[in-house]
This record gives sequence, structure tokens and C-alpha cells, in this order.
Amino acid sequence: MKKLFIASGNAHKLEEIRDILRRNGIENIEIICPKDIDCKQEPVEDGTTFEENAYIKARFYHDIVNIPTIADDSGICIDYLDGKPGIHSARFLPEMNYAQKCDFIVDMMKDVTRRGAQFVDCLCFIDKNNEVNYYMGINEGEIAQSPAGEKGFGYDPIFLIPAYGKTEAELGEEYKNEYSHRAKALKKWIVDAKDKL
Ligand code: IMP
Repeated sequence: MKKLFIASGNAHKLEEIRDILRRNGIENIEIICPKDIDCKQEPVEDGTTFEENAYIKARFYHDIVNIPTIADDSGICIDYLDGKPGIHSARFLPEMNYAQKCDFIVDMMKDVTRRGAQFVDCLCFIDKNNEVNYYMGINEGEIAQSPAGEKGFGYDPIFLIPAYGKTEAELGEEYKNEYSHRAKALKKWIVDAKDKL
């Protein structure tokens, strides 16, 4: 059976990635992730773009496991904040939990009309020939007037999908794992990666 290393310690992301692969018929692959290997260190995400940080994670783990490796770097880009927090989404407002971060953002934007936002995902894949491939996925949305929904993780409760009038946290996996930034990037990988594993 072919092996694939998924370079993420984020349990929510891993669950989504596994489900997206399953939904797209990718089942006969042994998936290995950081918790399965004996590695005490973590990659230092000091890149300045999604691509650089995805590469840093993929290269770090590929050097250890030496099997085809994918890593994703993702984040929310808010138009009103000129694209921030972007690559710093996980470290934005570090003293707050995600419920507090979401409350803070909607409160900050309560009178703002410019509500556009994007979820961005860059997938870096180091393939069986040690070649580096990138796949981008972007999902357009808006910052909701208030957080809503219990599903998903991170900023999902404030990421409104205008066509549905609901947040990603209300829509849940049936929406996210077909149309999210991560689903879009992974679907590109699935098309391209068949012969590279
Ligand atoms: P990283 O890609 O592990 O550096 O972190 C990405 C961060 O962006 C996450 O910790 C979340 O804060 C946010 N993020 C990325 N993807 C999603 C998503 O699908 N839903 C909600 N928040 C997300």
C-alpha cells in the first residue's frame, strides 16, 4: 500500500483532510501524521507567505520520514484588515481562545460595511521524486455580523457564505469538505498526484 505523510498536528485539519480524500475515492493509502512518529521537534513557521510556510512544514517532515508528504498552510484574510491575519491566523490575538477571537473580530467590525474575507489554503506536496508541488484553494466569504454555528473549528463561526446565508460552522462538513479552501486545494492535488505517490 502506498504511504502518504500529512504534516499537520491540527486534529481538525487532519479530520477534514481524511474526509476530503475519502469523499474523492482516495482510500488505499496508508496515512501517517506527526503523532505517529517519534519526533519531539516542530517546524519553525517563519516564512512570509502561505507557500513558504507550507514548504517549511512539508520539507521538515519529509526529511525525517522520506515518504511523499503533504503540508497545508492556511488562514483567513479579512479585506477590512488589508488581508490580515492571513499567515498569522493561528497566532492572531494569542491571549484569546477562538470564541473570544471571533467575538473580538465581529465587535471590531460591527459598523463596517466592507465585510469581504477569504479562506486561503496552500498545499505543498513533496512527491516520490523529491519534487515540490503547490496547490492553492481560495474560498470567498464575508465576516458575519455575529458568530453562529457549532461545527468546524477556528474562524468558521464568523465566516459567512453569502449564497447560503450561513457560516461555515453552521454548514458543517457537508459544505466544507466539498467547497472550502482546503477541499479546493486537495481536489487539485488529487487530480495531479496519482502518479507522484
Ligand atoms: P496553520 O495552517 O496550521 O498555520 O493555521 C491555520 C489557522 O488558520 C488555523 O489555526 C485557524 O485559525 C485558521 N484556519 C485555517 N483553516 C481554517 C478553517 O477551515 N476553518 C477555520 N479556521 C481556519
